[in-house]
Amino acid sequence: MNNIQTVILAGGLGTRLGPAWAAIPKSLVPIGGKPLLEHQLLLLKRYGLQDVILLTGHLSEKIEQFCGDGSRWGMRITCVCDSQPLGTAGAVRAISEQLSGDFVVLYGDVMLNMNLQRLLAFHKERMSDCTLVLHPNNHPFDSDLVAINAESRITGFFPKPHHSSMCYRNLVNAAVYVLSPRILPYITKDTMVDFGKDVFPRLPDTLRLYGYTTREYLKDIGTPERREEVEQDYRSGRIERANFDYKRPAVFLDRDGVINEEVGLLHRPEQFALLPHAAAGVRKINASDYLAVVISNQSVIARNLCTIAELERIHNTMETLLGQERAKLDGIYYCPHHPDAGYPEENPQYKINCTCRKPKTGLVERAARDLNIALEDSFFVGDAETDILCGHAAGLTTIGLRCGRGCKDSAVEPDYFFDDLYEAACFITEDPYHDVYHYLETAFSQSGKRPFIIAIGGNSRSGKSVLARYLAKKLRRQGEKVLSVALDNWLLPKQRRNPSQDVLARFQIQHIETDLQRLFRGEDIYLRKYDQFLREGTDTVVHYRLGDATIVIIDGVVALAAASLRSMADLKIFCSIDSTLLAKRVTRFYLWKGLDQYAIEELLKERQRSEYDIIKENDQYADIIVNALDYSV
Ligand SMILES: [Zn+2]
Repeated sequence: MNNIQTVILAGGLGTRLGPAWAAIPKSLVPIGGKPLLEHQLLLLKRYGLQDVILLTGHLSEKIEQFCGDGSRWGMRITCVCDSQPLGTAGAVRAISEQLSGDFVVLYGDVMLNMNLQRLLAFHKERMSDCTLVLHPNNHPFDSDLVAINAESRITGFFPKPHHSSMCYRNLVNAAVYVLSPRILPYITKDTMVDFGKDVFPRLPDTLRLYGYTTREYLKDIGTPERREEVEQDYRSGRIERANFDYKRPAVFLDRDGVINEEVGLLHRPEQFALLPHAAAGVRKINASDYLAVVISNQSVIARNLCTIAELERIHNTMETLLGQERAKLDGIYYCPHHPDAGYPEENPQYKINCTCRKPKTGLVERAARDLNIALEDSFFVGDAETDILCGHAAGLTTIGLRCGRGCKDSAVEPDYFFDDLYEAACFITEDPYHDVYHYLETAFSQSGKRPFIIAIGGNSRSGKSVLARYLAKKLRRQGEKVLSVALDNWLLPKQRRNPSQDVLARFQIQHIETDLQRLFRGEDIYLRKYDQFLREGTDTVVHYRLGDATIVIIDGVVALAAASLRSMADLKIFCSIDSTLLAKRVTRFYLWKGLDQYAIEELLKERQRSEYDIIKENDQYADIIVNALDYSV
């Protein structure tokens, strides 16, 4: 394998990069202080590819001067200067006598970091004549697209420009090829021919063409903006971290109700409409180290509402619409099955009890293998119970959304709740409570008191429970025993409240005090779990016991509102929210609960007097004040 040659097409000029780089070949444009070409050479060497032919054009002497014979990298480099422009394929055809066996082709203006041995193994296993590296990018609308089938065999080439009505899979030719000499006779001699436009689309069916899809880093530096992006990515370590050798975290996304409007058994492309914040959410994920992977139950196949080909057209619509907004998905995994057989109209082949239908974890596991995902650092974002159960079962952090089906069918609670995918994506990628955790960690280790008691108070919708869960999760990962106490469980049921009561009465503050004192004395506390959707106690019993907890986190509106509660706490956190944001949040929250606009306005007025104005004064008692997250697109 290791005698495989690599041809680097290094003839391009850096003219489009602006005056700063006009006088040097694009290959020598520096990234992180090192010419792009050197990054490529070092990557080749890392995977044992030491034999390189450099095809140069204008300013070839500069490249030759830089590389020499390659001995300074322990490589063998031959420079071939071609003064006559022959296009990418024409230039390779011109040196065909120097090629022995299969060879790799790289473009001199592409920054890449990928496991090349894995690519070569793919090429060899399939006895491929021509393997193209393909990936989703954030501008598929003006990229050269390729279609493949389930076996990764290439089924079509779609060079840019694309007709505006075309829907396509976001799979872009990344300009890295592994080729067999068998394709050389199909390149016309001594004329200007390009691989993407003139050669690949015209190769006969007798040759075996494959697409190798990857989530690794490949980006050309053709414009000043793109060069700058690559520079930033290099400096942040993102390029190296994207190599398949490293696991990456992912955000797994349900499809219907998370990315697109929930219509119930969607089975035609024209029914597909993006939710307002979906593309911004996916874009946010794309800008981070997380992968964006769709995990979807599509029983429309088993129900015979559409075929696999039609479902793929729906997914092409999704990728096209996201792509137009510069958002991309790193994978789409779906289950076509359904377990309940016996209906006359069904497709019996798919009516099976499979291992991939959510809440089963088969799809997540398949994605984790294909994309080398670190599940322990990953999230599942969904709008239904099956999503939350699947996420739990796969060991992911779960996020329920209040859009789509809004998790209203769910008996299990997600780790976090957010309004839409954009909010969830901001929370995941920005890690906004990181500093609060560090403050807590220091206070905890300096105090030595066990259990260490944290009280988190503040107005409703200010982010208390998200913060409380975040801190508990991180502390548990550090091996701490955390008891989380939600003061909502002491709330009077809706029917037992009266308008003259203030927030302290509504929370039965005296009960909280005595119950917490009993808890800290070692007694067991039993309560009826409060359902925030029905606003009443449920039949589920909540049981609190101190046990050997090293940390207790108490969160609730009134956590800092009474002196007796404050005196129990070793660390007091206040979550602050301004009245405009509060009104916006309360409105969205109660719309989700099904209240109408009028009822919400009444509730807001009442809460202003009986709760908001009282609680907002509690910030004076806090050790830290945490501002509510405001993620607006
Ligand atoms: Zn299945």
